[in-house]
Amino acid sequence: MKRREMITKMGALSLGFATPHLSKGEVLAAPYKVQKRKIETEILVVGGGTAGVVAAIQAGRAGTKTVLIESGSQLGGTTTTGGVSFPGIFHAWGKQIIGGIGWELVMDAVNLNDDILPNFSIIPDNKSVRHWRHQVTVNGSLYAMLAEEKCVEAGVDIHFYETPTEINFIKGKWKVKTVGKGIANEIICDQIIDCSGNAAAASIAGFPLLREADTQPGSFIFRIGGYDFESLDLSKIPKEYHARLRQNMLINEDVKVESSVNNFPPTVPYNYVYVHGADSSTAELHTKANIEGRASLLNLIRKLRTFPGCEKLKLVSAQPETVVRETFRIDGLYKITHEDYVSGKVFDDSLSYSFYPIDLHRDGQSIYQEFLKEDIVATIPLRALIPKNSQNFLVAGRCLSSDRLANSALRVQASCMGMGQAAAAAAVLAIKHSVTPADVPIGELKNMLKEHGGIVPEA
Ligand SMILES: Cc1cc2nc3c(=O)[nH]c(=O)nc-3n(C[C@H](O)[C@H](O)[C@H](O)COP(=O)(O)OP(=O)(O)OC[C@H]3O[C@@H](n4cnc5c(N)ncnc54)[C@H](O)[C@@H]3O)c2cc1C
Repeated sequence: MKRREMITKMGALSLGFATPHLSKGEVLAAPYKVQKRKIETEILVVGGGTAGVVAAIQAGRAGTKTVLIESGSQLGGTTTTGGVSFPGIFHAWGKQIIGGIGWELVMDAVNLNDDILPNFSIIPDNKSVRHWRHQVTVNGSLYAMLAEEKCVEAGVDIHFYETPTEINFIKGKWKVKTVGKGIANEIICDQIIDCSGNAAAASIAGFPLLREADTQPGSFIFRIGGYDFESLDLSKIPKEYHARLRQNMLINEDVKVESSVNNFPPTVPYNYVYVHGADSSTAELHTKANIEGRASLLNLIRKLRTFPGCEKLKLVSAQPETVVRETFRIDGLYKITHEDYVSGKVFDDSLSYSFYPIDLHRDGQSIYQEFLKEDIVATIPLRALIPKNSQNFLVAGRCLSSDRLANSALRVQASCMGMGQAAAAAAVLAIKHSVTPADVPIGELKNMLKEHGGIVPEA
């Protein structure tokens, strides 16, 4: 082959095979612009987490035009992305107390994964049988997909990667400016339901918020494996790491207890590092909490692998973000107090139940817990979901109006799901009757919740 021929062939080779993407269809594209849209809807749900998905599905199923904006990439929030995939508590003292859309989602996730339900007829006494045994283990990824499917079926317009920047009430309508990846929208709606966990929309709309100077620590959740806890020589491992290593093995012990004593299902292996002062209310603060959580886990893994028997310890999974227990709450038309909670007070406008011990995580100290007395179940009134001096605005989830101790129990997932459904039903009826949610006919609201599977407290 002549030299010139060879060079030509080599050129063809390098163009044709080494860089196949340079196909005939490739064009030089103009830079794309941020898309600006004006969207009109009836209900806007901000935050597609534990409470938000239930709120959006309820609003959609009631035939209301609903937009759901979520700053993350999937639905479920703390239940899914955060890794707290064991929602509780739907049962108290031998009876189901929270049902509706949240329970439907949980059951669908359980059934599609052949997970095992706890035996709810065995009543935790919080000594031999702990309350958390009634939490239901779900597969977080599956739960997120099911939530999305149900939102789509209910006609909810889901917007991922989107967050509000301005919220103003003008001539009876909310005008909400949002930004997201490649978009800048103006959403005009009748009712807003803030399910952001941090009262983000309430804050942007200018409603006063409540917050403690010190908040409970957040957690970065992970699983480890690659070692056999039973055969570790714990005398050679510092005591402070024993519980941490044992945490992933609880499942084995529980299985033994279950089959022999009370037939409770196994719990998930669940491990976390605390992230002190973790806050997810701004991108900057959540970034800081994520970096701290990951750095802390890296240090822990390096340390654990130095212990005899743990040389092959592996990180099995780590969640994409640090989860947060406590930030802002709204200052509502009613603030649920610790006393209301532990006495199981039922209000005229109580729309759902809540059952969990008072459960306050404290830096450097044990968790402060107070168990509810027999037959006591707390309730959530509509007024705790409505900011003071607001029109056409509700919240659902851990940012409801409550004092700190009450909030430490109200924040659990089944309670948040119940609130999500209640808030959405109130928003739907407010639109129907052209009133603000505080003025909807309570009897009709309770009936609507019951029609959609909700369990409404009776006075
Ligand atoms: C470590 C830990 C352990 C826990 N253990 C349990 C337990 O054992 N059992 C139990 O039942 N509960 C437990 N909880 C409590 C419970 O999981 C949460 O309180 C509850 O899930 C909060 O639900 P939520 O809907 O209020 O918020 P989230 O589920 O956090 O949802 C908020 C959603 O809003 C989105 N969002 C936030 N800000 C914006 C914004 N500005 N714009 C758009 N979207 C936004 C978020 O991305 C998220 O998807 C635990 C919590 C933590 C942190």
